[in-house]
Amino acid sequence: MKLLTDDTTSPVVLFFYCTKMYGHEWMKWGPEVLRRTLEIDHPGMVLSKKVLNRMLAAAVIATRDSFFEDWEPFHFLVQALIFGTPTAETMQEHSVGEMMAAVDDAIYIRDHLSKLVPRPSFTDTIARYVAAQALNQGVWYLPAPLDFASDHAGMKRYHCRDCGHEGEIFEHDGLCDVCTERFDTDSLRSFKPNPATVARGLGHNTQILYKNPQDGVKVRLHALQQNASAFAGTQDDVCAAKLLEAIDYMNYRRTQRDLAIRGL
Ligand SMILES: [Zn+2]
Repeated sequence: MKLLTDDTTSPVVLFFYCTKMYGHEWMKWGPEVLRRTLEIDHPGMVLSKKVLNRMLAAAVIATRDSFFEDWEPFHFLVQALIFGTPTAETMQEHSVGEMMAAVDDAIYIRDHLSKLVPRPSFTDTIARYVAAQALNQGVWYLPAPLDFASDHAGMKRYHCRDCGHEGEIFEHDGLCDVCTERFDTDSLRSFKPNPATVARGLGHNTQILYKNPQDGVKVRLHALQQNASAFAGTQDDVCAAKLLEAIDYMNYRRTQRDLAIRGL
């Protein structure tokens, strides 16, 4: 069975292969049981270690929500899905393309199971983690499937026209934290606006802004994708070109994956 010995087999393909062979049961097996069962069922075959790691990562994504909730499992599962080798020794950064491809695979797996258990949304923790890595790479706009992190990459904030305060958006209620005394620790209102200030109409005069404006990148990405324009070398173009490369990487893996799934 070539897909079990090929170090590049997609985790989604491995997920469907194991489910076809063993039903949903295999997702609960430990590494050794999974390896031995597959090797017994394919005499003479030596299971690739990377393939085994990808299977285990796919099983974790299928059965638990940690990939969608905490940055550490997210980090190691991206490593396992993409390279087949999670390691705690090197906290290497993931490229935007690798995060796109891993998230795309994870969504594919969870959407397949969505009749059994709904797919969770990504938490703010994951969004911040993804945005921080993207910003390190000079990418400040994130299209699907990383769009959940795009507001953080763009550093979406608000500005209060009354008091001049500029800050991160804590609640999406459009109110200024300072004018409404949201973080007034004396009152211990658990980060709720003071009703008295809100009743007086204070804190409403806010506007949303992006520290890293994204509209230019969106326009340039679209133009480059349509081949409607040549690379112009502006900052927006450089960011759009990086995104184009990331999307190409994800799409390449998608194509390989979809071909292999059809052949199962
Ligand atoms: Zn204010």
